[in-house]
Amino acid sequence: MQDWNALDDETFRGEVRRFFREHHPQSLRYASRRPRWREVRDWWATLYRHNWIAPAWPREHGGMGLSPAKLLIFIEEQESYGAARTPDQGIINLGPLLIRYGTPEQQRKYLPPTLSGEYIWCQGYSEPDAGSDLASLRTEAVLKGDEYVVNGSKIWTTMAHDATHIFLLARTDKQAKKQEGISFLMMDMRSSGITVRPIRNIAGHEEFCQVFFDSARTHRSNRVGEQNRGWSLAKALLGFERIFIGSPKYCQFTLAQLAALAAERGLMDDPVFSDRLVQLRLDTEDLASVFARFAEVMRNGSETLGPEVSMLKIWASETFQRITEFTLESLGNAGAIAAALPCGDRTIDAVNTFYYARPATFYGGSNEIQRNILAKHVLRLPE
Ligand SMILES: Cc1cc2nc3c(=O)[nH]c(=O)nc-3n(C[C@H](O)[C@H](O)[C@H](O)COP(=O)(O)OP(=O)(O)OC[C@H]3O[C@@H](n4cnc5c(N)ncnc54)[C@H](O)[C@@H]3O)c2cc1C
Repeated sequence: MQDWNALDDETFRGEVRRFFREHHPQSLRYASRRPRWREVRDWWATLYRHNWIAPAWPREHGGMGLSPAKLLIFIEEQESYGAARTPDQGIINLGPLLIRYGTPEQQRKYLPPTLSGEYIWCQGYSEPDAGSDLASLRTEAVLKGDEYVVNGSKIWTTMAHDATHIFLLARTDKQAKKQEGISFLMMDMRSSGITVRPIRNIAGHEEFCQVFFDSARTHRSNRVGEQNRGWSLAKALLGFERIFIGSPKYCQFTLAQLAALAAERGLMDDPVFSDRLVQLRLDTEDLASVFARFAEVMRNGSETLGPEVSMLKIWASETFQRITEFTLESLGNAGAIAAALPCGDRTIDAVNTFYYARPATFYGGSNEIQRNILAKHVLRLPE
């Protein structure tokens, strides 16, 4: 197997770029919604066949074993190519968790089918009354014999309708303090007692679901880590991946669309339009340089990003929303059409991109929560 870390950065970047150009389906680039499994399974199979499905996993577990610096290059290229997002919870979250904290049996049982795409995972953390305040979750798992019996409900579970398995946080001790009575469990979605109800979002797409557990069972060997210690495991997942939620790719892509629209319609002659476009361009430049600064921290081999990384998430999501709002406005009447409209040598699907930008201020920790983090841990303001 190739040792990617032995290549110099520019050669590696060239290899990644070539790979995406040669193998990624054109029709899936820059999708304005999350593709379903049936649409991306061939792309997954291609990545798997080339051993490219898990860039961050160690090579002994079937990954590419990339160093943080190489991983960053990989993700930069993947993002700038507009590669399709696969149902990647197993690759991004569960796999690294099992590699670090799972038993050898769990690793043997779950890692190979997670790589091959036989097992598709979804993340069951949020509940109807536990989102930002996740530790107040109430889905309960009671150990009876060798099995946990799970009752409760998870919500906003992305791609649960395509998943074969779910990893979830469940309360295993109601008497303990909030964070201390939670365990981390894995379950087969085909177990009896699990019902999945898709939720239609504002754009009319079913990307997430509510999942109900009605005395659904999972063997105790499917608990990762110790009983009641699941909270710290879940927290450990929020490693340096948080930086990627602040990638400037969406802003850069939508800004390029806006510039194409401006060129086609001669909008730059309008001083109000050009002023706003330049402002958005500067905002995106600011974002790119803040992103580069955090990326540099990673490149230096430090895996811990400070609480100031919250700034990146806020700036990326809000700039993305501002650009999509202004694009809609600039389209005039055509801004009411939810379809891909021809514009120069490309198409613009402004309404769906606008919708796509809306939840960005929610997922990955809402922007208000990110501002709280900045206030408390960076500015040291009082509670
Ligand atoms: C597209 C999308 C995909 C998702 N996918 C998943 C998934 O796969 N798995 C999963 O488990 N979850 C998923 N989520 C859920 C996501 O993690 C939650 O939406 C998020 O944590 C916020 O929780 P909430 O929706 O319950 O909002 P709430 O926590 O109820 O917040 C409502 C509002 O109150 C504000 N607020 C809350 N607390 C405070 C506070 N202390 N100070 C100031 N303001 C506050 C929030 O910022 C927000 O504006 C997804 C969400 C979205 C939008």
